[in-house]
Amino acid sequence: MDQSRLQKLRTYMEEQQLDAVLVTLPKHVYYLTGFLSEPHERFLGLLIPRDGEATLVVPALDLEAAEKSSAVKKIATHKDTDNPYEIVKGILPENVKRVGLEKDHLTVNRYEALAAVLGAELYVDMELPLREMRLIKTAEEVVRIKHAIALVEKVLAEGLKKVKAGVTEAEMVAELEYLMKRFGANGPSFDTMVLAGENSALPHGHPGERVIREGDLLLFDMGVVADGYVSDITRTFAVGEISEKQKEIYNTVLAANLAAIEATRPGMTLASLDKVARDVITEKGYGEYFMHRLGHGMGMDIHEYPSIHGANQDTVRAGMVFTIEPGIYLPGVGGVRIEDDVFVTENGCEVLTSFPKELTVIG
Ligand code: ZN
Ligand code: ZN
Repeated sequence: MDQSRLQKLRTYMEEQQLDAVLVTLPKHVYYLTGFLSEPHERFLGLLIPRDGEATLVVPALDLEAAEKSSAVKKIATHKDTDNPYEIVKGILPENVKRVGLEKDHLTVNRYEALAAVLGAELYVDMELPLREMRLIKTAEEVVRIKHAIALVEKVLAEGLKKVKAGVTEAEMVAELEYLMKRFGANGPSFDTMVLAGENSALPHGHPGERVIREGDLLLFDMGVVADGYVSDITRTFAVGEISEKQKEIYNTVLAANLAAIEATRPGMTLASLDKVARDVITEKGYGEYFMHRLGHGMGMDIHEYPSIHGANQDTVRAGMVFTIEPGIYLPGVGGVRIEDDVFVTENGCEVLTSFPKELTVIG
């Protein structure tokens, strides 16, 4: 595990004069220690006192697993009959005044239980520094993302063999999610989307009993979680013969996808990257049918910072991983989206997804 992450957090604590930070979001505990666990209603936390060793506080039943994988070697446990916040207080020096917390994550109940025991003067939100750290991926994180992508691409390739007229969207989803687990993923990183025909024109449709038919555009949007990291890919296929109109929107989306990938480089604004793809689609007269952002960051979560849309003036930075996913959704005709995951390098980007994108007929 990357010790520099804890070090960065300590630098932030120095700057903000925090006496302690308590990290409780399981993903952040994983990010900072290497210990991946979903404790459900039990308490899991990484406690970092400004002038002391970090301590991982875990349920007693997780001690062995934590010892195996945590880079933070000081581990305290609590039993179901303990008040874990008393244990937290016991680790900290007397009179802590400023404490960092993840305000988005901590429930009011947990905050009140902690505050009642700790009695600090000020609780500071750690959302921003943690988000900032996660924004730039390390080589090790990119390896994990690539692994999650390799898995989902294998699932897609295998799943496509099951597509034929008469199969429903829901049956395809079941098949794909079965393959995810069979190929070794922990599971889908979000609800798997298979949308056929007119349903593919609904960017947030729900796969159901719609039967796949000849002449459909068939949209797959899916990803897996593996080793704590996610993948996210969309491909759209032609089922048998499709119309010239359908081909035209397909090739327009593909051109937009390729233009954005080609344009991606550090220093440009996220808004201008969104515009590159949007301009291609607008020039063809379909601007109003591309009604969502170009893409989103991804890593431990399927939707992370940055958000790539026309109002985001933040810049693209080397080390970011995000999706590029333009689409055109024509009511009644069908929709096309082509989504790739890219890793920003010093002078461009590496496309991590490799599934073919030329219009492919299946079924
Ligand atoms: Zn997606
Ligand atoms: Zn996406």
